[in-house]
Amino acid sequence: MPQTLGNLFILTAPSGAGKSSLIKALLEKHQCTNAHNNVMQVSVSHTTRAPRPGEVDGVHYHFVDRAEFESLIEQDAFFEWAEVFGNYYGTSKIVIEQTLRQGIDVFLDIDWQGARQVKAQIPDTATVFVAPPSKQELQARLTKRGQDSAEVIEQRMAKAVSEISHYHEFDYIVVNDDFAAALAELDAIVMTRRLRKEKQIIRHQQLFDNLLGE
Ligand code: 5GP
Repeated sequence: MPQTLGNLFILTAPSGAGKSSLIKALLEKHQCTNAHNNVMQVSVSHTTRAPRPGEVDGVHYHFVDRAEFESLIEQDAFFEWAEVFGNYYGTSKIVIEQTLRQGIDVFLDIDWQGARQVKAQIPDTATVFVAPPSKQELQARLTKRGQDSAEVIEQRMAKAVSEISHYHEFDYIVVNDDFAAALAELDAIVMTRRLRKEKQIIRHQQLFDNLLGE
């Protein structure tokens, strides 16, 4: 893909690390300040898993069945896709490319397998791993979610540990101990990416033409 004004970010984390809250807060912040006249959005993935209560088709995910998902794979519609805990998840190619071309930053909330595939295709992607501050805290956060049995919590912990084992594959690591601090760190990553020469040249071409003109 050619150089675009928009930046591509991947956020990966075990469940319980606070990733969704961080992305939500970051989006809210940037919708207000609109820094550098640049907005951001989170990509809506396709999945074959059933919607959870409160989840809306087209907002949280595009919910499709396995046959439809497999047909999309055959049509090469996905930028990346993976089978996570028995369900397919994938990121649509066309939406990402169009959004980046419009100068909009895109966040992908995907697992380590997807992160690896996207990074291989677009090395310019900033991949961020969000880690919980401790095993005890992770366990506490996974337990707080509902009245699940010890066995279910145990399974969630095992999945979380398996996701965490890939932490070293990412460009940036944010430890979500204090929420405000983690948000500021994530924001700093966004800013750093936006200020890179390649992006600033596209953004400010007229300015430099003007500054260097007669
Ligand atoms: P959940 O079912 O809880 O919404 O998501 C389960 C896992 O699938 C999470 O780790 C999430 O990041 C990952 N995931 C969601 N969408 C995608 C996607 O499009 N591609 C990949 N590779 N993983 C995804």
